[in-house]
Amino acid sequence: MPKYRTILLILLASILWTAMPTPAIAASDWPETSIDGVSYIKVERLRAFYKFKNLQGDRGYYTIGSALSGKGNRFLKMKADSQTFYINNVHFELSHPVKRNAQGEYLISKLDIVKVIDPVLRPQYIKNAENVQTVIIDPGHGGHDAGATNSAAHEADLNLKVAKKLKALLTRAGFKVVMTREADIFLTLQERVNIANKYENAIFVSIHHNSSRGSSKGIETFTLAPKGTTSPYARTLRYQDLAGNSQDSTNIALATAVHSAAILRTGAEDRGIKRARFSVLCSPKHPAILFEGGFMSNPEEARLLNTDEYQQKLAECICVGIKNYKAAMGAKPGSVPAQSASGTRSGSTSSRRIGTSTRGQTIRGGTSASRTRP
Ligand SMILES: [Zn+2]
Repeated sequence: MPKYRTILLILLASILWTAMPTPAIAASDWPETSIDGVSYIKVERLRAFYKFKNLQGDRGYYTIGSALSGKGNRFLKMKADSQTFYINNVHFELSHPVKRNAQGEYLISKLDIVKVIDPVLRPQYIKNAENVQTVIIDPGHGGHDAGATNSAAHEADLNLKVAKKLKALLTRAGFKVVMTREADIFLTLQERVNIANKYENAIFVSIHHNSSRGSSKGIETFTLAPKGTTSPYARTLRYQDLAGNSQDSTNIALATAVHSAAILRTGAEDRGIKRARFSVLCSPKHPAILFEGGFMSNPEEARLLNTDEYQQKLAECICVGIKNYKAAMGAKPGSVPAQSASGTRSGSTSSRRIGTSTRGQTIRGGTSASRTRP
């Protein structure tokens, strides 16, 4: 494994894990600047809040963080006028582009700070996150709806194969697993959500595979768009919360855990963690993601996806991500989770002592994920 990937592996294993220092700046005092009707905050404020340094990262990017390598370190990498944003080299598509003012200072939308950056950097401050006991696996399509197709396979079948492998892994790891379908049958999107919403202490993982006319390849992970935002997959601006928005903080944490594990372990192209308002993401009362494991339209990826080994690898990635998510949600503020991320090279962190047990401030606007019960 090249050195770079080894470093990345160590970084990603800790991306959702490490306790942040007690914030020194009162978040409520941060001045906001309105740009194109969107509220922005200077990155300098964020840098001070997280006790980050200016770092010499990749050319053309502005990078802040604790360090570019080493266990437990985090860094944020951004470009002016771009929604593409990296946390420890994991690709996120922000809801609003990063801005740079006339003085050369960078700004990030307050919404992206609250809905992406803070829950990912400090998952231990997400309020009311449930202790995951049940995983709802939703193999996309089925029956008369084959999904994407190529000469070798139907997406519905491929989704089910990966889902069954994931079920076996999660069951072995002690999770209760519910499948929305275990055969080639058709279910409406609402039926899938209805199954998910029967359970408590659960997460919802929909498994799909992609197709495009071009040569696109790689893995992307979708989670619900926050209210007041749009994306290419959520074009209509909504000002009201959907049921799934009660999980905004846990949604992004789950997406980050699964997506980063998948990118790292497959070496696939990182197409990013993206926002959508797909039906299966709008209504679950649990943290929910839609995972796209690769492009059936890309000959190279189609060959891989058709193999039992790669399907197993995808299932293992998702399983590791879910375990990392559960561990991160189980961490108390000021501590790291005792459970090790099995299968990663991070090893157990159970013996680590963290200097502070003081509860930090919550960035105004909240990392709280209040429960919505129908
Ligand atoms: Zn699909």
